[in-house]
Amino acid sequence: MKILVINAGSSSLKYQLIDMENETLLAKGLCERIGLDGKFTYKPLVEGKSKIDAVDVAMPTHAEAIQAVLNALIDPANGVVASMDEIDAVGHRVLHGGKAFTKSCLVDDACIAAIKKCIPLGPLHNPANLMGIDACTKCMPGKPQVAVFDTAFHMTMPPKAYTYAIPYEYYENDDVRRYGFHGTSHRYVSARCVELLGNPEHSKVICCHLGNGSSLSACVDGQCVDTTMGLGPLAGVPMGTRCGDIDGTIIEYLMGKHGYDIKEMMNILNKKSGVLGISGVSSDFRDLEAAASQGNERAQLALDKFNYEVRKDIGAYAAAMGGCDAIVFTAGVGENGADTRAHICEGLEYMGVKLDPAKNAQRADEHIISTDDSKVKVFVIATNEELMIARDTKAIAEAL
Ligand code: ADP
Repeated sequence: MKILVINAGSSSLKYQLIDMENETLLAKGLCERIGLDGKFTYKPLVEGKSKIDAVDVAMPTHAEAIQAVLNALIDPANGVVASMDEIDAVGHRVLHGGKAFTKSCLVDDACIAAIKKCIPLGPLHNPANLMGIDACTKCMPGKPQVAVFDTAFHMTMPPKAYTYAIPYEYYENDDVRRYGFHGTSHRYVSARCVELLGNPEHSKVICCHLGNGSSLSACVDGQCVDTTMGLGPLAGVPMGTRCGDIDGTIIEYLMGKHGYDIKEMMNILNKKSGVLGISGVSSDFRDLEAAASQGNERAQLALDKFNYEVRKDIGAYAAAMGGCDAIVFTAGVGENGADTRAHICEGLEYMGVKLDPAKNAQRADEHIISTDDSKVKVFVIATNEELMIARDTKAIAEAL
């Protein structure tokens, strides 16, 4: 069975074609500047096939983008399948499933209506995800499609974790609660971690997904019991450009002082804050590390703040779970930032975390970076959201 995985944004679309026989990647790529001047990238992973690098392709809408993907995949010279019939189903990443979705679901009229209902909760992403679904319906009529939600894994949180301390009617009437994001990544790495621990009957795992956007989750026996992001992806630890948790008073104070309207204020908190906002240098951790090593104090402060908040949340989750068997680092910073991992784990020795500096400096998709005698095991596990989406899609498509 071959599954096409789609992650549609408002003007871009990432795709992967995965052969589920042995879970191998056949091709991947990216459509950018949809609705503008359309750029198309295609990378086949089959020997002897040539890639296409950011070439101009007219993509006024997502439908032309999907058609370009299909044309490349079935191209007689450089394609990886003989025809569209070989693609069995399509899996879509969908940001917000609200309260409605606790797991992935087959795309049908009811599912589309429910995703639409969640647009107020995910106003930037859900409409784009729907455009991806719509485009596939047009280009591949009748092909089973599955929606995999970023929020679904976190729906096992207990009420004390997801309830905000504001009047309860906002939860009851307006669905205001903690949802959490990066759920597909947390699900993948937490499950892998439990496997690497030897599938114990009980496990307490803290997952640190640290990328441009960052979130932590606390997982007991494979189920999420808390996570740092909230109603939207602005909450939790500071991120590349997002502020993470702040005091709501700041919003009123700055809007009053500078006359910002709510759009300007939210743009500052989403796009101009985080480690970029503190440093004034960059949202990229490599740039921050380079600047800090040359004595830039604000770049160092941004890194210190990030590491401190992640460390604090690890402590909070150990307290929440009454212990911790393992910590997992994943995503761009978590997988590559050895210094960041070391600094985050500094001072966690009291709870049984002992990093092995030599192991931490090594690079691998999956490895243990704690010492043999560390009570808490620390892993780096490369996340694979696309594979998780493909697995869910396969399971649902096979059951049809
Ligand atoms: P996204 O949240 O957009 O999926 P990624 O998970 O790809 O982001 O993470 C991107 C971030 O990873 C970059 O902004 C960069 O800061 C960080 N990163 C990538 N490589 C390294 C590295 N070698 N050292 C430190 N940070 C890195």
